[in-house]
Amino acid sequence: MAVHVRFAPSPTGALHIGSVRTILYNYLLAQKEKGRFILRIEDTDQKRLVASAESYMLESLRWLGIVPDEGPEQGGPFVPYKQSERIAIYQQYIKPLLDAGHAYYAFDTPTEIEAMRERLKAAKVAHPQYNAISRAWMRNGLTMPAEQVEEWIAAGKPYVIRLKVTHKELIRFQDGVRGWVKVDTSVLDDKVLMKSDGLPTYHFASVVDDHLMKITHVIRGEEWLPSTPIHILLYRYLGWADQMPQFIHLPLLLTPDGIGKLSKRHADQYGFPAFPITWNSRDLTIDKAFREAGYLPEALLNFLALLGWNPGTNQEVFTKPALIEAFSLERLGKSGVKFDIAKAKWFNQQHIKQQGPTAWASYFITEAAKESITCNQEDAIAICNLVKDRITFPKDFWQEGRFFFFDPVDYDAELIQKRWNNQTKEGMVAFTQSLTALVEWKAHKIKPLLQAVPGIMPLLRMALTGSTAGPDLIEIIVLLDRDRTHKRITAFLEKKG
Ligand code: GLU
Repeated sequence: MAVHVRFAPSPTGALHIGSVRTILYNYLLAQKEKGRFILRIEDTDQKRLVASAESYMLESLRWLGIVPDEGPEQGGPFVPYKQSERIAIYQQYIKPLLDAGHAYYAFDTPTEIEAMRERLKAAKVAHPQYNAISRAWMRNGLTMPAEQVEEWIAAGKPYVIRLKVTHKELIRFQDGVRGWVKVDTSVLDDKVLMKSDGLPTYHFASVVDDHLMKITHVIRGEEWLPSTPIHILLYRYLGWADQMPQFIHLPLLLTPDGIGKLSKRHADQYGFPAFPITWNSRDLTIDKAFREAGYLPEALLNFLALLGWNPGTNQEVFTKPALIEAFSLERLGKSGVKFDIAKAKWFNQQHIKQQGPTAWASYFITEAAKESITCNQEDAIAICNLVKDRITFPKDFWQEGRFFFFDPVDYDAELIQKRWNNQTKEGMVAFTQSLTALVEWKAHKIKPLLQAVPGIMPLLRMALTGSTAGPDLIEIIVLLDRDRTHKRITAFLEKKG
């Protein structure tokens, strides 16, 4: 059977970076197995909808270069891909559950349900909820005569439809990450399947759709593990037990110190983004994001892929095709993974470097133009090549390379105080003279001249770049060329006297 996976977000807020990892694993499996990656919008909880959440997610996926094979934008054999447009389908599947007695009508008001909870809590009941025990005292199709149920429905009394969970049954299933999971149904409640507004809940709609869309692997966050026994009961009661997907629950992403689950608050606290892209609409504002911080989509995906999966080798840097090639479900990890932003930066450095200086030259030229500097392709390549080891984010190319176009205006006082003395002054003068006499302006010719006057390197760097740190000094001299080098050293010596 062809692999069918899905990402099924509820558009109730901005797509979190943890969900991007879930998307990625689904996508990688589908690509690897030449299957289908389906995007399904689970928007049946009308109260919690955030209008922009869907556009935010779609835009984030576009930036990440992850294109679903089927979804609201792409269409596909299982249209529609939005649950709010599939209501008639769920109504069709609730009927057999009611007829077979696996689901029942319940008319209890919120106040009645709350009173039941309070009663059970006061009696110190372990699971104070609407379940196999408490339902016997509530106002529902199991306790009321059938005629009355019909009358009440006809009279328009609000009702929900609940799943009739078996009493004290051990449900076992094999999770792709956790192995065998056993849950006693006595911890479960009789979940609402259809709400009083006639819309299905997540549990019901999701199982029906996973079945109809022929989902083979449900890959999702660990927070859904407790819901899985409910889903298994539904598969069974709907007569689909032999076509159940494999469940794969991904471990949590943790804070950098490993103490808690990664949240936006933690990300803020540690000063890194928790969302893929920024956004600004009436109902959704994201002002800090990976894209705007300068992360390359491939680097971010590479970083996320390795938070919970390992390739079984020491290889760390992967392009997207290489990730697809290497991915396998067997290598997903069991334990929570710390979100180490330093590692994310490292991946960004590696991917930037991998693209090579020629690829960054036009970016550099554009950045230069913003400061009214015209830079030709050849210089841009040479500068990008010179600074490439110092780059974490693309903007660093210009920051690291702009000294090339601007003569230093002032010098670091502390450095001068530490290094400037008669000896270094004479050294600088001697070096300048030897440069003037130099015929061939080449690195291997400049190097011995610099070695001949020890102790002047930091001052020379300051004179040429205005900074105390930077790329290889000899390469800088080569690139600046004779005139600019001479001019900048002379300016420095004049200022220092
Ligand atoms: N709609 C659920 C969510 O918001 C989907 C959970 C699942 O993957 O089953 O995450």
